[in-house]
Amino acid sequence: MTAQVETALRGPEAYALARRVVDAMQEASVWPTPLNFELWLHYVSDPEGPLGRELHRLLTGDAPFTDATAEMLAAEFLPRGRLSEEIRDVGAVLNRELAAVAEAIDNARKTQSAYGETLSSASARMQDAERPTDLTEIVSTLSTATRKVQRHTSALEKRLESSNREVVRLREHLEQVRRDAMTDALTNLANRKTFDEQLARLCEEAETEGKGLTLAVVDIDHFKRFNDTWGHQTGDQVLRYVASVLGRISRAPRVAARYGGEEFAVIFPGETPGTVEAALNAIREEIGSRSLRRRSTNDDLGAVTISVGFAERRPGETALGVLERADEALYASKRSGRNRVTNAEALAQAAA
Ligand code: GH3
Ligand code: MG
Ligand code: MG
Repeated sequence: MTAQVETALRGPEAYALARRVVDAMQEASVWPTPLNFELWLHYVSDPEGPLGRELHRLLTGDAPFTDATAEMLAAEFLPRGRLSEEIRDVGAVLNRELAAVAEAIDNARKTQSAYGETLSSASARMQDAERPTDLTEIVSTLSTATRKVQRHTSALEKRLESSNREVVRLREHLEQVRRDAMTDALTNLANRKTFDEQLARLCEEAETEGKGLTLAVVDIDHFKRFNDTWGHQTGDQVLRYVASVLGRISRAPRVAARYGGEEFAVIFPGETPGTVEAALNAIREEIGSRSLRRRSTNDDLGAVTISVGFAERRPGETALGVLERADEALYASKRSGRNRVTNAEALAQAAA
């Protein structure tokens, strides 16, 4: 949540704002879940902001607004807030650990310097010692001081070990947070934000290194029918199925992502259009080759097919440019009967 919205929820208009949010959710026929509340709160407070505009676009379209839609929006527009909260927490724990370690080191240092003084005074007294009892007393002082140093050293060691464990735990936690922020929760593929970043980076790399890059966009055919006939849960099952096949063939350096509701995209860095086309047809055939079963009731869902468009990046072309051409090729696949793969280059030649 942005600080501004957070403040508004604790100000004089807080209840009026909350009521407007609830009314707006009711008007849009969505459940007042905590996540929806957070999304609509941004929508109501800042309708012209990026989240407000995207939500408006989704609400005025045909697609129903589902929990999955809410999660996609949250992943795209809210993670910064979540992420920075997590990072703040991690920072606070680290600060506490550092203060505790500094204190343990300081204690050990003080004990060490007291020990140094004890040693030099013992050495001076030894030179003056006349009787064995004097020596016994000096040795006893020394052994007491030595034990004290040992105690402090081992306390310091324990403190350092526990800090080390805590730092390892924090590092793993941060790694998990980073992975969550990058992936789509439903399919475990990269999310759109990650995909956009990767595509921009890989296009730049292809440009500077003079290497090829091919981009494919994939859309499930008649997906709405699955939803309408079997419900959204089953629709989600179909999405996970398609994603799992895409994910399996898209090992690094390929990058597969869920690009939108039932749309996916795959980047093929350094591959020729020929091998990409073969790979895409293999995926398309594999996806369409199985008759799916509805998990909850074992009903036969039939086969699901995909339409695909791909484009090889032209020298100097931006990420957006190649994405647009792949998209046009996808729509050509849809228009010419679905369940097929279209090369943007073939499309351009046919038009010429
Ligand atoms: P076409 O072959 O032309 O692509 O037809 P289609 O039915 O697949 O395409 P359309 O764009 O009409 O419908 C896509 C549907 O995908 C509409 C929307 O409700 C659904 N959808 C989007 N995101 C999700 C999701 O996360 N889960 C589920 N179950 N459905 C979703
Ligand atoms: Mg679509
Ligand atoms: Mg579709």
